Amino acid sequence: MSSQIAAQAARRRTFAVISHPDAGKSTITEALALHGQAIASAGAVHGKGDRKGVVSDWMSMEQDRGISITSAALQFEYRDCVVNLLDTPGHADFSEDTYRVLTAVDAAVMLLDAAKGLEPQTLKLFEVCRARRIPVITFINKWDRPAKDALDILEEIEERIGIKPTPVTWPVGVGGEFHGVIERMAIDGTQAGGMVRYERAPGGQHLAHTEVLTADEAAERFGEDYSRAVEESELLGEVDADFDPKTFEAGHTTPTLFGAALVHFGVGQLLDLLIDIAPSPFAREDTAGSPRELESGFSGFVFKSQANMNASHRDQLAFIRVCSGRFERGMQVTQAQGKRTMSTKYAQTMFGASRDTVEEAWPGDIVGLVNASGLSVGDTIYEGRAVEFPPLPAFAPEHFGALQMHDTSKAKRFRRGIAQLDAEGVVQVLYSDRRGEATPVLAAVGPLQFEVTIARLSAEFDVPATIDHLPYKLARVTDAEGAKRLLTAPGVEVFRRPRDGAHLVALPNKYRIATIANDYPGIVLEPLLAGG
Ligand code: GDP
Repeated sequence: MSSQIAAQAARRRTFAVISHPDAGKSTITEALALHGQAIASAGAVHGKGDRKGVVSDWMSMEQDRGISITSAALQFEYRDCVVNLLDTPGHADFSEDTYRVLTAVDAAVMLLDAAKGLEPQTLKLFEVCRARRIPVITFINKWDRPAKDALDILEEIEERIGIKPTPVTWPVGVGGEFHGVIERMAIDGTQAGGMVRYERAPGGQHLAHTEVLTADEAAERFGEDYSRAVEESELLGEVDADFDPKTFEAGHTTPTLFGAALVHFGVGQLLDLLIDIAPSPFAREDTAGSPRELESGFSGFVFKSQANMNASHRDQLAFIRVCSGRFERGMQVTQAQGKRTMSTKYAQTMFGASRDTVEEAWPGDIVGLVNASGLSVGDTIYEGRAVEFPPLPAFAPEHFGALQMHDTSKAKRFRRGIAQLDAEGVVQVLYSDRRGEATPVLAAVGPLQFEVTIARLSAEFDVPATIDHLPYKLARVTDAEGAKRLLTAPGVEVFRRPRDGAHLVALPNKYRIATIANDYPGIVLEPLLAGG
């Protein structure tokens, strides 16, 4: 059994795509799945051949339930590996869950729009990867359209986020003249050379044709574009921008590919690269810092908790990242935090609108547990020897609102509901002396978290409530003394976060940080994870 666990873990690659809306995440997800032959054609995943299918499927479910059914994981086989692609919801459903997904992956693909370069949401997600030491592969997308200069994009990445791109491929031509890429490196470090020429498949529903050309053939066919690409690629070698596994794993370099997800250019190479260089699941550390070996009994943690808004049976869907051992549907597991045992009869995989029952899962896989009320984000479940993984971090909120309950006879229920939603990680609950216990302030990464809170307070606790938005956009952590000093500071507000006992200062903009630092010398103002 233990050798089977090790073998299954070794063939898993679990990752997420981090990007700004519109960079092409849905498109590349679909293209990856198509390459992985999880499905027959791109349209099959999303229905009706509609390229926007992933999004629209979610939308209809969101409308049905009044909240976002944020996603889970897409699983497919490629070569001899099993790929788990976790979704990072963006757009209007960007929330703390989006960040939390990154606690459950072993690698990330940073997807950039070639005409736009680094954009705000990508930067925030990248910061989470950096903090968690998740290795990042960069895919520069939409190279079939007018783009920024390739070398400029590399420079932008290096200068703005301090990670050095090491191009694995280099584009020959751009826009309508994007012919293919030079393969700069074979992954084992030997020079690969040659050019992979791309050709569009009609209709975009099928894999692009690729053809490997020798240097001579490429020079003959693509003259100027090819020689320019060769020159630039050689230049990169001179500035030490060649792939290096050690610095990649340490998060100091990012292997970089150029492509166009829409026409599947470069997508196969991205998958190959993931299989070849992305880490497979490794032994996670428990709260005491000792690793839970992969071959130990089953263990996993909840990285996402989804309320089913169906009032007739208040159901909770918990998404578990398997960390060790073999998960088998129906097994009894123990919840580390409550020392409760629970059954796993209803286990599913879930992506988009499709759900399948899952019978077994291995380290790196994602399992959705239905009927998992009582499981909160960050909770560990296990079989056999006890283990508890560290709690998930709270991320930097960017939206603040005062929660108002209108029926004071329900105060007790209101408090219970708020505590429950806070514990589940639905939203961060803050208190201030100024507002008192009856008026908590909610803090969130995305406004969707407020909507979910209001909907669940009403549906599950029968407490209608409303939110008054507050004019704060970011937060800093201070100490007890800082909290006292800032009590009367204009334009900011000081809160306690009972979840971890932190003192948070909510601020309208980052200029106010500078003026506070100026007006209150020596004040502690620490940034929180991600955001700014
Ligand atoms: P998401 O918001 O990141 O999920 O982005 P989508 O996958 O929905 O893509 C946004 C838009 O960019 C859509 O109109 C796509 O068809 C388009 N798009 C995505 N990838 C490419 C690409 O490689 N080339 C071109 N020309 N368009 C692309």
